[in-house]
Amino acid sequence: MKSVLKLMAGVAIITSMHTAVMAKDLIVGVSWSNFQEERWKTDEAAIKAALEASGDKYISADAQSSAAKQLTDVESLISQGANALIVLAQDSDAIGPAIEKAAAEGIPVVGYDRLIENPAAFYITFDNKEVGRMQAREVFKVKPEGNYVFIKGSSSDPNADFLFAGQQEVLKEAIDSGKIKNVGEAYTDGWKPENAQKNMEQFLTANDNKVDAVVASNDGTAGGAVAALDAQGLAGSVPVSGQDADKAALNRVALGTQTVSVWKDSRELGKRAAEIAATLASGKTMDDIEGVTTFNGGPKGVEMKSVFLAPLPITKDNLNVVIDAGWISKEEACAGV
Ligand code: BGC
Repeated sequence: MKSVLKLMAGVAIITSMHTAVMAKDLIVGVSWSNFQEERWKTDEAAIKAALEASGDKYISADAQSSAAKQLTDVESLISQGANALIVLAQDSDAIGPAIEKAAAEGIPVVGYDRLIENPAAFYITFDNKEVGRMQAREVFKVKPEGNYVFIKGSSSDPNADFLFAGQQEVLKEAIDSGKIKNVGEAYTDGWKPENAQKNMEQFLTANDNKVDAVVASNDGTAGGAVAALDAQGLAGSVPVSGQDADKAALNRVALGTQTVSVWKDSRELGKRAAEIAATLASGKTMDDIEGVTTFNGGPKGVEMKSVFLAPLPITKDNLNVVIDAGWISKEEACAGV
């Protein structure tokens, strides 16, 4: 539909729910939660490139880990004329009023990467439970028994619990039989590496350094955990998981201080989200989105229209995959090896 309209060289007017907009002159507003995280810069580049290609405009705001700021950010994006919003929620509940406001004005919302459990928001993400399974599987291969620590994500991000659920599913049998002991489990406020490091230090102290494996929920928190292990001379001998294929993490995988990162090609996620936002803004419905499925696995069981992409675990054995995909250069990945 979009390409047909483009062929008509801007003559066609598409009527969105609230206003008439030119197909190629949409404004897509992106509300980031914590832009300091390395991965979101890649996501942003992909969203921008897709919007540029379709002749649409990108505007954005970063909430800097503040749920309150994110509410005013969304209002500001709306007042700057956004025809569609892409929202990476800092707090899945606190963002509610902003979604309601957008819906009341007929502005479509794409919940980006993290669940916003409101059917007014389209949900696009990777299979987060599967990410958790992959993290636990790789750590378990190295340490099938012993004392396990779980460095979870932010409690205001539903992904933290999806990941943990996947991790527990894989380890359940070994936990039930007593082969694995959970000796520490904590959320990481704001997903901040320094908070993960503090939690890891406490778990090491509480267990007289007898920690055999660390299931960390992303690469930032893995970095914090590895720093704490390193201070005790344990980095490299205790398996640690992560996700995002951050550059520093891939280097740790090459050096052997991190066991696995889970690669979620955010170039694809960003591109798809931008396309979905533009499609919805041009008046199409969620059911028109290619590959749409229904998801109701959130805490409230709300039925959501969604698209899921597939993650891939990266260990020392298949580091070449991210290098071959142009995600990272061999020099960067293998620096110091
Ligand atoms: C994302 C991760 C990211 C984390 C912290 C999660 O919701 O899925 O990829 O590392 O947030 O920003």
